[in-house]
Amino acid sequence: MLKCRDLVAEADLLLAGELSWQRRLAIRVHLLMCRHCRRFMRQFKLLLSAIPAMHKPASEAEVEQVMQHIQQQGGKPLDQRPRGE
Ligand SMILES: [Zn+2]
Repeated sequence: MLKCRDLVAEADLLLAGELSWQRRLAIRVHLLMCRHCRRFMRQFKLLLSAIPAMHKPASEAEVEQVMQHIQQQGGKPLDQRPRGE
């Protein structure tokens, strides 16, 4: 019988469709019986759906602000530093 910790460990593989049908069936059966894991899966899916919004590319203004800060600190871009720095 699948345990809650097994489901948590394989949740990302389940959502990615990378589990065998036998494993998916075992997880589905566990989810039918375990409200804690149903809640976990709901929250996990919500978290995964929010990740793309957290990784939006920086705007030109944000990049400029960071570059100005680096220059004010006397720093150089990484590709202009000697090795080992
Ligand atoms: Zn469970």
